[in-house]
Amino acid sequence: MEIIKLIPACKDYLWGGTKLKTEYNKKTDLEKLAETWEISVHRDGASLVDGKDCTLNEYLDNNPGYLGTACPDGLPILAKLIDSAQSLSIQVHPGEEYAQKYENDHGKTESWFVVSSEPGSFIYFGVNREVTRVELKKAIEDNTILDYLNKIYVKPGDFILIEAGTIHAIGEGLLICEVQQNSNVTYRMYDYDRKDANGNKRQLHVDKALDVSIMKPIEGAVGTVDPEKTTPMIDCDLFTTEYFVAKGCSDSLTDETSFTGFIFLDGCGTIAFKEKCYDYRKGDTFMVPAENGVVKVTGNGKAIKIRIKQSKEAA
Ligand SMILES: [Zn+2]
Repeated sequence: MEIIKLIPACKDYLWGGTKLKTEYNKKTDLEKLAETWEISVHRDGASLVDGKDCTLNEYLDNNPGYLGTACPDGLPILAKLIDSAQSLSIQVHPGEEYAQKYENDHGKTESWFVVSSEPGSFIYFGVNREVTRVELKKAIEDNTILDYLNKIYVKPGDFILIEAGTIHAIGEGLLICEVQQNSNVTYRMYDYDRKDANGNKRQLHVDKALDVSIMKPIEGAVGTVDPEKTTPMIDCDLFTTEYFVAKGCSDSLTDETSFTGFIFLDGCGTIAFKEKCYDYRKGDTFMVPAENGVVKVTGNGKAIKIRIKQSKEAA
């Protein structure tokens, strides 16, 4: 099996900016580009495989074993780039059980890596005091929900794990690389009374949001990488992420447990696996199959590297 380059699905949500087009080489006719779904088989937006004229879903169907033994049920993650010219809605995602029962989709734990930020950029991460369902509902109705949220200022190189049930939002002026469970279930709690291009407010899902929200502060978990050094970041039940620095020529070993995803955020050079070699530049995404081998990356690239973990039952 061979290394493949991916072409993302593009989303023009109302809060999006243009940096993914102007700085990260994304091609789209959309005016605003809020998100690019870089590694995705989701029904709401699947990636395409460069040079193969097929979706990632079709490619994986034709290449059994590509994802590895840790992925018996298909690709379990979705990886995106997100450009928030404006703040995202205050939102929460359900866990696996609730999502299966009510949404016919998966739960969503997500992780963020801050690629770039405007001065003063922040995220909301959980509540800042213990609250009841009744208090939180009233705060949403009174437009005072922001007073109850834990606001964290972030800078490039910061990373954080957001477990399902954590109330959160990406503030304005951030470019984020998100790796999450393969799900598109978002319960919007508050949207700053904004209207979309057609003058409509976006739907809120307050009751479902309150059903799944964690009502206590969550111990802060913002880590920071050394910009010049490969650094492990997220290690959750499902996946691991690493901040990867190429530094001239770097080898990464691969094996049959998981594919390896590379999302390049800076630099340029080449990435090779077995006979196949690609040039890369910032914004490019590649997948390497789950086979014993070596990925060789040259140049001054900086990337987010993603692998799936073997579940405890299967191990
Ligand atoms: Zn979210």
